[in-house]
Amino acid sequence: MAQATPLPFDNSYAALPDRFFARVAPTPVEAPVVIAFNRALAAELGLDAEALAREAGAVFSGNRVPEGAAPLAMAYAGHQFGNFVPQLGDGRAILLGEVVDGEGRRRDIQLKGAGPTPFSRRGDGRAALGPVMREYLVSEAMHALGIPATRALAAVVTGEPVYRETVLPGAVLTRVAASHLRVGTFQFFAARDDREGLQRLTDYAIARHDPDLKQAEIPALALIERVAARQADLIARWLGVGFIHGVMNTDNFSISGETLDFGPCAFLDTYDPRKVFSSIDRGGRYAYASQPGIAQWNLARLAECLLPLIDADGDKAVEKASAVINAFPARFQAAWLATMRAKLGLTTEEDGDLDLIQAFLALLHEGEADYTLAFRALADAVTGDATALAERFRQPVALSGWLEAWRARLAREPGDLAARSAAMRKVNPLFIPRNHRIEQAIASAQEDGDFSLFEALQKALSRPFDDQPEHAPLAEAPREEERVTRTFC
Ligand code: AMP
Ligand code: MG
Ligand code: MG
Repeated sequence: MAQATPLPFDNSYAALPDRFFARVAPTPVEAPVVIAFNRALAAELGLDAEALAREAGAVFSGNRVPEGAAPLAMAYAGHQFGNFVPQLGDGRAILLGEVVDGEGRRRDIQLKGAGPTPFSRRGDGRAALGPVMREYLVSEAMHALGIPATRALAAVVTGEPVYRETVLPGAVLTRVAASHLRVGTFQFFAARDDREGLQRLTDYAIARHDPDLKQAEIPALALIERVAARQADLIARWLGVGFIHGVMNTDNFSISGETLDFGPCAFLDTYDPRKVFSSIDRGGRYAYASQPGIAQWNLARLAECLLPLIDADGDKAVEKASAVINAFPARFQAAWLATMRAKLGLTTEEDGDLDLIQAFLALLHEGEADYTLAFRALADAVTGDATALAERFRQPVALSGWLEAWRARLAREPGDLAARSAAMRKVNPLFIPRNHRIEQAIASAQEDGDFSLFEALQKALSRPFDDQPEHAPLAEAPREEERVTRTFC
């Protein structure tokens, strides 16, 4: 008996005009094997996880297009490392459709690596196992860290090789996103002087993400402001956990405010604000501390696209949009201060807090301390001594003066110190997706078909703030010979 697939699609993007996308079905693969299926996420989406699990190999490889799907590749443009490319689009991702969960949240279900599309240019439309594993681990870790991110519903190996510098196993990731609208989607229509397309897209984005803005005096302007607010918050959180996106091109910069596209992303180990891991970021454009400035630059590109919708005559549009863009640094700074205050255990605000935060970061830099473990040790230093903290520094630094100032500041906080320490442990994670562990997990999967580290990482990273003695090695900083200095996508 034919069974309906438990993916109750409710598609809205496919109802937009034809030039928004290309209809294309996934290309079937040889021998799909499921390497991960995210039951918790399936349940969160209101799906029948058991029924879906039974069909996961066929559905999440693209071999069987479920009933109700309207598969398509989205059109978009984008600035890549500062250079404008008028047509990019989903070259290897295929949107199956959207589902709406019990709370009314609409989510895209997309297969990444599902075969060529009209936007593939010279690409093969496929994804290699390594990047699929990395995106699965890091996007789920980000979510567990409380940071908005696209999610991973499944990962499947295809049984087919992909040809990069070497021959690698192929894989497909099922990505779940609040939407895949990006700054580059707006740029696609703006580059074509397609005023009607821009208006349709803006209306769609507002209906999907900010329905209250339909009533705004200038909805397009209000949308830029919302995106700016979400991105300020997002990037402050990235910096808080030491995340470096690696490819903040405008086509990877989402309207919903989710972390989008986990390519050569990485987490800091030793603290260095100039840090770059991405092998393709040769100029260091997307260094750790450059991310807020790049966000502002990307928002300016969004604003440029929307000028004709802000003021049709043009006079006041630039002025109004500039005011929003110019307010971004202050908006970001407020979000970052809130993040960093919490990491230091502060709930109230004092003028000296910025100096206190910067002084600690300067010590981490000077002493080549592991960013994550130093903040975690700081939580323990609230009530205990600072020996464990001092051990996180590879080079000796004069910590005592700073500690004295910090303890004096903590003494002016309400509540007891045990509560401060507990609160700090809820914002300073013990487990982050360490670059070296991800590389090790990929290597053992690729070379030996051994997914045990991949699975252990999923478990440990799902509870990043909890001590999990059984996973203790996964929290550790890399030894010198384990260090990853370059990441690839
Ligand atoms: P990204 O750097 O992942 O944001 O991708 C930039 C552009 O390259 C997007 O249009 C992708 O769809 C496209 N792309 C990346 N890899 C492939 C591939 N293997 N096949 C086809 N298109 C690709
Ligand atoms: Mg991308
Ligand atoms: Mg990518």
